[in-house]
Amino acid sequence: MIWVFPLLLPMIKVDLHSHSTISDGLMTPSELVSHAASQGVQVLALTDHDDVAGIEEARAAAAHNGITLIAGTEISVTWRNRTLHILGLRIDPQHPILQQGLTRVRESRFGRAQSIAQELEKIGIQGSLEGARQFASEGIIGRTHFARFLIAQGHAKDMKTVFKRYLVKGKPGYVPHLWASLEETLSWILAAGGLPVIAHPGRYDLGRTLLNDLLSEFKSGGGAGLEVVSGSHHPEQYGQLAELAQKYDLLASRGSDYHGPGHSYMSMGRLPDLPSQCRPLWHDWEEVREHAA
Ligand SMILES: [Zn+2]
Ligand SMILES: [Zn+2]
Repeated sequence: MIWVFPLLLPMIKVDLHSHSTISDGLMTPSELVSHAASQGVQVLALTDHDDVAGIEEARAAAAHNGITLIAGTEISVTWRNRTLHILGLRIDPQHPILQQGLTRVRESRFGRAQSIAQELEKIGIQGSLEGARQFASEGIIGRTHFARFLIAQGHAKDMKTVFKRYLVKGKPGYVPHLWASLEETLSWILAAGGLPVIAHPGRYDLGRTLLNDLLSEFKSGGGAGLEVVSGSHHPEQYGQLAELAQKYDLLASRGSDYHGPGHSYMSMGRLPDLPSQCRPLWHDWEEVREHAA
């Protein structure tokens, strides 16, 4: 039997990175899942930032739509003075060690939101904390919500422009922040039985040496995979990332990083297959195999 999987699995539509209103997505978990199903996605991971509160609703919606839901989260990490995102996939969302860790990250995120509002006040932009909150329907307030507020107030015309003028290093509203360490993030995900995956590695602008350092540290700390195909990568990056995954013996993942219509680099269900030399993260997942039957 095993010989058929390499042939059939790449044809399954797997999308292992998406956001709902629990973090900074625009659709509720149920809306997101129905949308994914309508786009032909068969296996979807919900990976809200530092939160797992949408998993239960998403799982019920997935059962209703005949698709498979993978429980996930995307954790913000500070590594050598940079912010990285680590996905925890196929986690037990109820695991107390993971839950405690995520609660701590969310609390520190609120402290940062208050500081961002104070920084924006210094340049005459009032009420941004309340303003950002209106765009954060369910919980956390992140930079994306401040960005949406700034656009609504006419300070920038779109997402791209707003992150050139505000909220980034050297610009008003930037607040340096210490997230969780890579080591502790890996330990939370592993404790919850999940697979740690580096999200959109092509987006950090690390340079070759740092990227190699990260991958070897990640692998030796229990890391499992690298997001090779991402909605925020250029197709020309896929090959290089596939090589790095092989070099560090990491499995390859694929995700749209969908945030909602008009707020994403790529629509769901349109993700290209992984490069052929990659070993998919889901190569031995029972729930993916079922879709091949
Ligand atoms: Zn991310
Ligand atoms: Zn994301």
